[in-house]
Amino acid sequence: MPIYEYRCPECAVFDLMCGMGEAPDSMPCPSCGATSRRKMSAPHLSRAGSAEFRLMDDSKRSAHEPPVVTGLPGQGKNRPVYTANPLHQKLPRP
Ligand SMILES: [Zn+2]
Repeated sequence: MPIYEYRCPECAVFDLMCGMGEAPDSMPCPSCGATSRRKMSAPHLSRAGSAEFRLMDDSKRSAHEPPVVTGLPGQGKNRPVYTANPLHQKLPRP
């Protein structure tokens, strides 16, 4: 159910939860009773799919489905590449 905002000319902005398309154009202010007009505002879109939600989903998933590890990290072909500069490949390794 969407939340509509009304601006009271005397007080401030107040919210009204109302069915879609059922919100009246004006409402009496709950504080002073003055006629308040509905305020046009940006919709409060869902944040699902954002980086924040992906991080939370990945954290929950890793708790239940940890990735399978078959060997020590940094060995074999799957050695992580930290740099793209080929000259760094010639540096001494520990
Ligand atoms: Zn008011």
